Amino acid sequence: MLLTITNTTPDARDLGWLLHKHPDRVQAFDLSFGRAHVFYPEASADRCTAALLLDVDPVGLIRGKNRQGGLLDQYVNDRPFVASSFMSVAIAQVFATALAGRSKDRPELVSKPLSLEAGLSVLPSRGGESFLRRLFEPLGYDLAIERHSLDDQFPQWGDSPYHTLRLARTCPLQELLTHLYVLVPVLDNYKHYYVGQEELTKLLAKGEGWLAAHPEKELIAKRYLKYQPSLARQALAQLVEDDTTDSLTSDERPDPNQDEQVLERQLSLNDQRIGTVLAAIRASRAASVLDLGCGEGRLLRELLTVKEIDRIVGLDVSIRSLEIASERLRLDRLPDRQRGRIELMHGSLMYRDRRLEGFDAAAVIEVVEHLDPPRLAAFERVVFRHARPRTVVLTTPNREYNAMWDGLVIDPPSPDHPANTKLRHADHRFEWTRAEFRAWAEGVADRYAYAVRFLPVGPDDPALGPPTQMGVFTCE
Ligand code: SAH
Repeated sequence: MLLTITNTTPDARDLGWLLHKHPDRVQAFDLSFGRAHVFYPEASADRCTAALLLDVDPVGLIRGKNRQGGLLDQYVNDRPFVASSFMSVAIAQVFATALAGRSKDRPELVSKPLSLEAGLSVLPSRGGESFLRRLFEPLGYDLAIERHSLDDQFPQWGDSPYHTLRLARTCPLQELLTHLYVLVPVLDNYKHYYVGQEELTKLLAKGEGWLAAHPEKELIAKRYLKYQPSLARQALAQLVEDDTTDSLTSDERPDPNQDEQVLERQLSLNDQRIGTVLAAIRASRAASVLDLGCGEGRLLRELLTVKEIDRIVGLDVSIRSLEIASERLRLDRLPDRQRGRIELMHGSLMYRDRRLEGFDAAAVIEVVEHLDPPRLAAFERVVFRHARPRTVVLTTPNREYNAMWDGLVIDPPSPDHPANTKLRHADHRFEWTRAEFRAWAEGVADRYAYAVRFLPVGPDDPALGPPTQMGVFTCE
């Protein structure tokens, strides 16, 4: 199984910097299913080609300790020869830095569009040439396709599903690798690894920025997730959500927390909130805690300091926030024992997620106001019916308190009306008064058999109440 990548933008040998593989060397890497070799059949300043040759060990797959899920039930099969999910795994392992869009020595190359060609020697496509075109042409690739007959000696047997494909496009290398990583397994019927939530997370991460707009996104999600309809549905729903944010350019996109942070710095409200939430979680004597909509991980950091908590999971729909959280918490540098206590997960609170079941407590800090009101019911089911931790600590702004902040007041209060104010943040879909929050929270408690009590966070103004309101839900 052979993948070649050719760069014809001078200096073409820059490809070596991007792939982190020297053009003058031959290298080999052990993978769980065999060995990968990287070498450059040509490496001039005008044209440089890197080849990734996979030597899949079909016997080892069946016999060896790395037996891969029983899918390969015979010794003779096409696995060693066709591009498949093995190719994706090899790309992810051998070209990890390039796939992640990093280059230690030449970072400026990462986003540089290069005139690239990729060649896949044997690619299965049961839908033939048209299916290959439907996948790659919307992404801007020029395709050259050669279909192979089943046997040259017997033309009457007709065509095989195997094709040789050449793709050409001017784009950053990372984009080409990402498209191959997702689309090669889509073409192959087998999947050597277990398809589960982790694959969904990968698809969403690798699909960021292009999959939501792809006309075949449904088919891609279904096939990538190996026809597991529930996973594919989740993927599509999340892609649709991403799509709406992606329609803004990064300049137009509001910095999710900026305005809020400025306001809150004056009050150090954020610190008070985290302190109050932490106290409520400690009081619940939880040993396992979810931080739902964990953002950049402010609460997670505090949870790590509580010895009694041995399992902490932060979940967020924003991959960017999770990356920042991971950096801030220095997850890659934590000692093993600490590292084992905490996990970050990509997911949405709109969809039932089995990974969230079985926890003692959950924090939902300043998240509900980001959800569209018609979707609150879905959130309630996910948290209170399915995940169902014994304790849920939930905070949200108190809109009444906005009258304390000059910049937010539109109409000052009159004897008959409370002040009319703007919301604290552009992404808030609503902010509740104390009465509105109580009504919602008591409704939830009623519907899902929880008890709820309310606590103020921050200075409790006699007329307007506190800036943040908190509900602590508990069930037996
Ligand atoms: N709890 C954090 C972040 C609050 S900002 C803190 O207090 O600092 C709101 C967070 O909710 C953002 O990180 C946003 O990405 C996340 N979020 C919004 N909608 C979500 C959804 N449907 N599922 C999961 N997280 C969501």
